[in-house]
Amino acid sequence: ALNCPVTDLSYDQEHGGGILVKTEDMDLYCENLVNAAGLFSAQLAAKLVKKQPKSQQQQKRNFIPRHYFAKGNYFRLEGQRTPFSHLIYPVPEPGGLGVHATLDLNGHCRFGPDVQWIPVATDNNVVDDECMGDNNPDEIDLNVDPHRADVFYEQVRRYWPGLKDGSLAPDYAGVRPKVHHPDLLRDADGGASLGFADFMVQGPQEHGMAGVVHLIGMESPGLTSCLAVSELVADKLLLQGS
Ligand SMILES: Cc1cc2nc3c(=O)[nH]c(=O)nc-3n(C[C@H](O)[C@H](O)[C@H](O)COP(=O)(O)OP(=O)(O)OC[C@H]3O[C@@H](n4cnc5c(N)ncnc54)[C@H](O)[C@@H]3O)c2cc1C
Repeated sequence: ALNCPVTDLSYDQEHGGGILVKTEDMDLYCENLVNAAGLFSAQLAAKLVKKQPKSQQQQKRNFIPRHYFAKGNYFRLEGQRTPFSHLIYPVPEPGGLGVHATLDLNGHCRFGPDVQWIPVATDNNVVDDECMGDNNPDEIDLNVDPHRADVFYEQVRRYWPGLKDGSLAPDYAGVRPKVHHPDLLRDADGGASLGFADFMVQGPQEHGMAGVVHLIGMESPGLTSCLAVSELVADKLLLQGS
């Protein structure tokens, strides 16, 4: 069902079990469901968790954390030829892979993405039904703030000292779903963020809900690893109950 946003999920009690998927236009029934709703997957998963017996909800939520969001900005190279013929990855920074150099199919060079955390609007202890606090990814401003260029110059010059002033122009931005937020993971002195959390592929083996796999916090390298992730998803569905 293309262009058909899913609005609710529940287990179907009337039509022989399975999962009832409510969309804006129709109801669908399925035996298995892969929740790959990107920025909204935790929100969608929460709708199913909410229908579980109250005594089990917290346990299930432990496997399906809420989403936090980190914007990633890019700047493009203008007025100077790129010296690169392949991607350049610096050492990763907390929350991201570092400002790397990418080349598009036309050979144009972009730098990014950086990590711009969206402030946590709701206390982490208050896990609401929507699983994303007050942060709605649809409301995140995707314009690139030109002032962020200062940090880009500094970071890119670590591996390309020849980058000239005035060569970086704001380009596009995207939003990553995250399963943690550095403001909630500081050490006692308020110092560096503690811990790192990868994306999660949560099937019946983890959360105990039959027939459902939730892809939570699917940030980079979700695209690169999509074939491996799909095999993992298939395994979780095929092996459930065994
Ligand atoms: C700035 C940035 C740079 C990145 N760089 C890389 C990289 O270099 N390499 C890499 O591997 N990955 C990278 N990623 C991550 C990669 O983009 C994601 O891992 C990948 O897109 C996740 O794919 P997905 O299909 O799970 O989710 P998405 O691509 O987000 O797709 C989710 C889909 O679900 C739909 N949807 C949402 N809610 C509903 C609903 N209620 N009903 C119906 N449909 C719904 C959405 O419209 C969307 O079409 C980057 C991400 C960002 C933001």
